[in-house]
Amino acid sequence: DITVSDLTGWLTEFGRLIKAHKEELTALDAAIGDADHGTNMDRGMTAVAEALAADPPQTPAGLGKQVGMTLVSKVGGASGPLFGTFFLRLGAALGEATEVTPDQFAAGLSAGLAGVVARGKAEPGDKTMVDALTPAVAALESAVGQDQPLADGLAAAAQAAADGRDATVPMLARKGRASYLGERSIGHQDPGATTVALLLAAAATAMS
Ligand code: ADP
Ligand code: MG
Ligand code: MG
Repeated sequence: DITVSDLTGWLTEFGRLIKAHKEELTALDAAIGDADHGTNMDRGMTAVAEALAADPPQTPAGLGKQVGMTLVSKVGGASGPLFGTFFLRLGAALGEATEVTPDQFAAGLSAGLAGVVARGKAEPGDKTMVDALTPAVAALESAVGQDQPLADGLAAAAQAAADGRDATVPMLARKGRASYLGERSIGHQDPGATTVALLLAAAATAMS
């Protein structure tokens, strides 16, 4: 089963990937936004790493609160509240248990996605982070529903997130700053969906 230490390892790996891809994320946002997504996420995840080290959470709910509140306060913009909500809802769904099953983890990710949709009102096809998160959650739910090992489910979720990220390229943006560009948003990969692909890649690496 998945422990708080596994979840912390996931967040640590995610922060490492964000730092490694910071320039790429900012370049993607330069094309269809305001060129800050990489610096926003790196500032947030650096603060998350500091918070986790200074005050290690004891429960998934505590971890979600710490990560979510830190992202809301440090990242700002559109992505801070959206990723913040994702982790707050994930933590709340996993609760106070010291260990969670793969089924519970998949349900937690689904609750996180529902929070992102409730807050940002994006639908699949709007060229946002939702386009990577939706297929990733579906892939993990399907895998754990068929009693596949967690590692296989996370690998499938990471692949689905990467495919969802790639599928944003031909989309017309209907939410966020990129929507101001209208037709000119077509042909560019969404930065937030790219970050979601890193989030799932980190899960597959750190929790398998
Ligand atoms: P900002 O646009 O405020 O500068 P960022 O550049 O950090 O914020 O994040 C941009 C990303 O946020 C987009 O690539 C997109 O994936 C995501 N995003 C923006 N608006 C929404 C929304 N309403 N719902 C879901 N995701 C959104
Ligand atoms: Mg931006
Ligand atoms: Mg901005």
